[in-house]
Amino acid sequence: MRHIAYIALGANLQQPQQQLDLALQRLDAHADLTLLACSPYYRSAPIGPQDQDDFINAVCRVATDLTPVQLLAQLQHIEHEQGRQRLRHWGPRSLDLDLLFYDDLVQQDAQLTLPHPRIAERAFVLYPLHDLLGDTALPDGRSWTGLWAGIAGQRIERLHTSD
Ligand code: AMP
Repeated sequence: MRHIAYIALGANLQQPQQQLDLALQRLDAHADLTLLACSPYYRSAPIGPQDQDDFINAVCRVATDLTPVQLLAQLQHIEHEQGRQRLRHWGPRSLDLDLLFYDDLVQQDAQLTLPHPRIAERAFVLYPLHDLLGDTALPDGRSWTGLWAGIAGQRIERLHTSD
């Protein structure tokens, strides 16, 4: 497998921890994908409308032979298989999968922006990403210095595995 990608997982409907477990299994089951590592799970406050449940979030690292667009299509396929409901923008969802990084690729088109444009705004991405990377720079070269200040005050809690 030639490429390394980071994927953010989030869910707040229909037993969200199991949604993440299942999505990780589905990723690893793909012939052209291998799950290398997954962060602990986190519980985070919803972005946008507050009259919805907290989210469960994690970030995983995969090795893959898929192209970025093929990988995005696979993520959307898994979201669809797990019954993602798009009831309203930033509303509740049974599973959301975002492609954060694909090697150090930078691209921006209608279908896919890499790195994912909102990484630095979201505690529920930065905390689990840091679990995987430690203080090593992000795959696009950004250093962690300064990133934490941008997410100060966002409510997030690491879950114990038995939760
Ligand atoms: P969302 O509602 O956040 O899951 O957004 C999904 C839409 O964002 C899809 O139409 C994707 O084509 C687009 N998109 C652009 N860049 C990315 C990315 N890096 N990861 C996931 N979706 C992306």
